[in-house]
Amino acid sequence: MNANPFSEKRFSFEFSAPKSEDATRRLKKVHDRLCEFYPHFFSVTYGAGGSTKDGTRQAVLDIKQAGSEVAPHLSFGGDSREKVERLLLEYKNAGINRIVALRGDAPSGMSSSGNLIHADKLVTFIREKTGDHFHIEVAAYPETHPESTSVDSDLKYFKQKVDAGANGAITQYFYNADAYFRFVDSCRKLQVDVPIVPGIMPITNYRGLVRFSNNCGAEIPRWVVQHLQTYENDPESMKSFADEVVADLCRRLLEGGAPGIHFYTLNKSMPTIRIWRNLGL
Ligand code: FAD
Repeated sequence: MNANPFSEKRFSFEFSAPKSEDATRRLKKVHDRLCEFYPHFFSVTYGAGGSTKDGTRQAVLDIKQAGSEVAPHLSFGGDSREKVERLLLEYKNAGINRIVALRGDAPSGMSSSGNLIHADKLVTFIREKTGDHFHIEVAAYPETHPESTSVDSDLKYFKQKVDAGANGAITQYFYNADAYFRFVDSCRKLQVDVPIVPGIMPITNYRGLVRFSNNCGAEIPRWVVQHLQTYENDPESMKSFADEVVADLCRRLLEGGAPGIHFYTLNKSMPTIRIWRNLGL
């Protein structure tokens, strides 16, 4: 029997907070299906893409209740310190011990992110209020955060989040493994030693992906775009090409030393499962 070469790696699955009862029911099914793969934890976004924050809280508590480890995403996002503290304590009392701490983005239509509170401040706040209870992860950007003025300043602020008390990081998605390896090298040179887990986005909807990637600064390599364009009216070829590209990326990352993979599941089970199988996990 072949031993799984990645058995020591850590895999996690991200959900977007559901926005309706129907979406909540569907997400439960996706959660149950993905449980078969024994993820390290599930995470649930907070206020992303206009989702309700209450939807996050409820989804997090439901996942915990179902017996899975769960990491709520959290940001100040205009809320008072008291409100954020109450939520932290509710999570703590529910036995949740992970948090993904973020700044978040301004709601679409509002261009300025100037009033948003940076993630390093949230990490400091969580440590102040709950000590070492939570394992805190923050966001990292191998291709540099789109609002950053330079690679160096982005690295400096990333280090600031870790110095404030983050235990690890999950990256924005990317399709260029070299960007990840260089980013990790740069962090290590700055004595940032926490695990940096690549966030991986399955490719399911070519046009949606291009739009989203333009906003969040993720580059889709030209050769990938050209293949996706070619297969736009051939869903089966598109699916098998996309799955293979993403599985190859995951394999390269894991073989190159990435501590695991965080899958952006898009609240569907099959895109992640296809990559999982392609990887032979
Ligand atoms: P920050 O770390 O605050 O950085 C934002 C920008 O400001 C960067 O350019 C950075 O270089 C700079 N900066 C950082 N600190 C400082 C400082 N102290 N002073 C000056 N400049 C600074 N969004 C959601 O709305 N909800 C979610 O649930 C969500 N989940 C995510 C999960 C992951 C794994 C990732 C990678 C992203 C997620 N996002 C989510 C998107 C994220 O909120 C955006 O990318 C946002 O623009 C930046 O968030 P951040 O936590 O990285 O911010």
